[in-house]
Amino acid sequence: MRDVTSKRAVVIGAGFGGIALAIRLQRAGIQTTLVEKRDKPGGRAYVWKEEGFTFDAGPTVITDPDCLKELFEGTGSELKDYVDLMPVDPFYRLCWEDGASFDYNDDQEAMERQIGAFNPRDVEGYNKFHEYSEDLYQEGYLKLGAVPFQSFWSMIKAAPELARLESWNSVHAMVARYIEDPHLRQAFSFHTLLVGGDPFKTSSVYALIHALERRGGVWFARGGTSALINGLIKFFQDLGGDFRLDAPVARIEMEGDSATGVTLESGEFIPAEMVASNADVVHTYGKMLGHTPRGVAKAKSLKSKRFSMSLFVLHFGLKTPQPQLAHHTICFGARYRELISEIFAGPKLPEDFSLYLHAPCATDPSMAPEGMSSHYVLSPVPHLGVADIDWSVTGPQYREKIIDYLEERYIPNLRRDLVTTRIYTPADFKEDLHAHLGSAFSLEPILTQSAWFRTHNRDDKVPNLYVVGAGTHPGAGIPGVVGSAKATAGLMLEDAKAAV
Ligand SMILES: Cc1cc2nc3c(=O)[nH]c(=O)nc-3n(C[C@H](O)[C@H](O)[C@H](O)COP(=O)(O)OP(=O)(O)OC[C@H]3O[C@@H](n4cnc5c(N)ncnc54)[C@H](O)[C@@H]3O)c2cc1C
Repeated sequence: MRDVTSKRAVVIGAGFGGIALAIRLQRAGIQTTLVEKRDKPGGRAYVWKEEGFTFDAGPTVITDPDCLKELFEGTGSELKDYVDLMPVDPFYRLCWEDGASFDYNDDQEAMERQIGAFNPRDVEGYNKFHEYSEDLYQEGYLKLGAVPFQSFWSMIKAAPELARLESWNSVHAMVARYIEDPHLRQAFSFHTLLVGGDPFKTSSVYALIHALERRGGVWFARGGTSALINGLIKFFQDLGGDFRLDAPVARIEMEGDSATGVTLESGEFIPAEMVASNADVVHTYGKMLGHTPRGVAKAKSLKSKRFSMSLFVLHFGLKTPQPQLAHHTICFGARYRELISEIFAGPKLPEDFSLYLHAPCATDPSMAPEGMSSHYVLSPVPHLGVADIDWSVTGPQYREKIIDYLEERYIPNLRRDLVTTRIYTPADFKEDLHAHLGSAFSLEPILTQSAWFRTHNRDDKVPNLYVVGAGTHPGAGIPGVVGSAKATAGLMLEDAKAAV
């Protein structure tokens, strides 16, 4: 085997994708420095601790734990040495305004019983949909989810399978082919929203999420997602990796067509033979490479693409437990298709909403002081490019509206029991994370922006510059960005060996 230990890499950004990539490089012997602009790692998976409450900023639904366990392969360590993953049951509780509800998990008999209560004919339809989802999982996730699409040829090779699976159809169209009941159509299509996709536009390939959840379960890290992030960072450091917080990168430095390292905003230069960015793709090309013709051209092309919606997130701590709540609840509003269309197209904040309500104490009481409960609720909202909302004004008003809605339907006495609240808006995504248009999930996962059509894991013109995370293949979500790290690491290791 060729020795790559003379190589140094810099990874910009400590989101899940950046951390997973840094681990893969470091464990292969490449001396890796991971630099993060903020005071804590995690990116979208940041954390706030307030008055004894732990508030995870972003991801809470952990699927496919195997993709995380794989990061430890061959090192003599295991994921469980660093973090305790706990199963969540039900995976989600889905609730509608007409009083209907559905507890969704991997218990086939319970699923069939509940589906039959909505519509007996949908039991068979659901089982067919499940088979279809399994097929997608094998083809779309296991075979293509962590391989880079660097050439159009790689896309052509995948085309027959993508055609057989009718990937040009939307997730909702395929669900509707098998399932009749309107509630159930929502129950099996809303998942694309968790990775920033409109179920009516996102390629049906994303219906694989159903199989992913049924196979691998839904998990929660004891202590919250930040405990998982901290565990991965500790593992990276135990491998000998160099991790730097409060280290925003100002520029990726170039000599000819090659990257030579990065300059921090402090002026410090970190040299490297390979540079990878986990930061937002528009920020990477437009800002950090904005001093080069390549950066300017690529940023311009990226800005012309469609970006995922943003999110409004309200964290709150209550002085009472809420045993009536499941860990994950989807609170569907009265409208579905029309609401989603307004969220993606703007031009203003819709009057109504559908919400995701997080109640982590259902699995892990340590997320709040004893006898209390910690929560967040998120509402998908338009990004700043389609609805230029002044969130400093609208945010507090929107918070009050959501609190009223939750108090009426899900959490009696919410206002009485409030200890603390905090809000996070599209403007914060833009400011804190450099997210283009405040998008919560980067490029929208439509077929014409997927695989080869997405930002390539290795830049086409700068051979030692790489990208990892939600803006590159395969896309957003923890399994997605951890898969992108595998694809990018594969390229970097190949290139490093070829150069020895
Ligand atoms: C509210 C919310 C809930 C979600 N829920 C789920 C869920 O339940 N399950 C799931 O699987 N997915 C979920 N997602 C999606 C998932 O969290 C993201 O797709 C994923 O975490 C993005 O990871 P990433 O690797 O792309 O990096 P990011 O998290 O985007 O991190 C990028 C990092 O780069 C840093 N950075 C930016 N610019 C610079 C610079 N100049 N110098 C240095 N560092 C820089 C940023 O500070 C940041 O830390 C959710 C997302 C959100 C927003």
